[in-house]
Amino acid sequence: MSARILDGQALAKQLQQEIRPEVAAFTAEHGRPPGLGIVLVGNDPASEVYVGSKLKTGTDIGFRSDLERLPLTATLGETLAVVERLNRSDVHDGILVQSPLPKAMGHDAEQRVFDAIAPEKDVDGLTPVNAGLLMQKRATLVACTPRGVIELLEREGIPIAGRHAVVVGRSDIVGKPLALLLLHRDATVTICHSRTPNLVDVCRSADILVAAVGRPGLVTHAFVKPGAVVIDVGINKVTEPAVAQSLFPEGHKRLDLFRSKGFVLAGDVHPDVAEVASALTPVPGGVGPLTIAMLMKNTLRAARARAGTPV
Ligand code: NDP
Repeated sequence: MSARILDGQALAKQLQQEIRPEVAAFTAEHGRPPGLGIVLVGNDPASEVYVGSKLKTGTDIGFRSDLERLPLTATLGETLAVVERLNRSDVHDGILVQSPLPKAMGHDAEQRVFDAIAPEKDVDGLTPVNAGLLMQKRATLVACTPRGVIELLEREGIPIAGRHAVVVGRSDIVGKPLALLLLHRDATVTICHSRTPNLVDVCRSADILVAAVGRPGLVTHAFVKPGAVVIDVGINKVTEPAVAQSLFPEGHKRLDLFRSKGFVLAGDVHPDVAEVASALTPVPGGVGPLTIAMLMKNTLRAARARAGTPV
């Protein structure tokens, strides 16, 4: 068997086309576009790339997209002050603080900054209010990556109700909210993490297996029940030759890419899973682009809610 590839890039483009006229309609009605403010502290290379894509996509489809950039040396107080300013801004409907914040800001800095975002502008769904509303199945702003995974499953016609979904990873941004979204769609959900015994066996019982771990190639074909749907959330920058060689066979174009560039992006799912899964998201080009599309949807939703127009 060779798995059907679930093309997140194509779906993200389609979603952007769907959002574009809605953004134009909002702009015409309210005399301003929906606005997104992104806070970037420091110069982490991966964050620069993610933020660049978010700003570009937002601008391309008609949003006001502003970058609030702070230096690596910024304090927690300075970062909180930017968030407070965006909270008060009339032209910003969504606020996103790019993770990770610099380590020097303190171990609880991220939590404190996320907590300070006004819940009605929390387009990442990370504030306690929005996380709590999700728990109670009445969320409006849900974390973008889990929302993107659900959108992909639904648009691809993959049934969720009654299926056993196994989510590997329990972070507040991916694993936990995704488990709740699957549960709310009547899946039977198991959440796994680094202390889960017999991880292979648990994963092998999944009809829908989601890997959101951050370990390249952790999920091999041994983890996958034949015919299962496998969603790879992981985005890992592989720089070790041995890891690249364990993922891609000699002659594979991704291994050639690794040799020419010195790194390659890989998911948490080993490519050999394509031999047993019925459907699989690629990395790159799977869940990643959907995360950005969902950010746009959330920002439009927040703008409509703030403007008092039907969401
Ligand atoms: P975190 O590091 O916050 O969470 C990782 C989770 O994986 C933890 O729950 C951890 O368990 C678990 N874990 C770690 N090692 C193992 C293991 N050997 N076996 C089983 N579970 C393990 O990561 P995130 O949730 O933020 O991100 C996960 C991945 O998804 C990363 O690769 C990230 O880059 C990617 N990502 C992709 C996005 C996209 O747009 N496609 C968006 C966000 C993230 P424990 O809790 O016990 O420590």
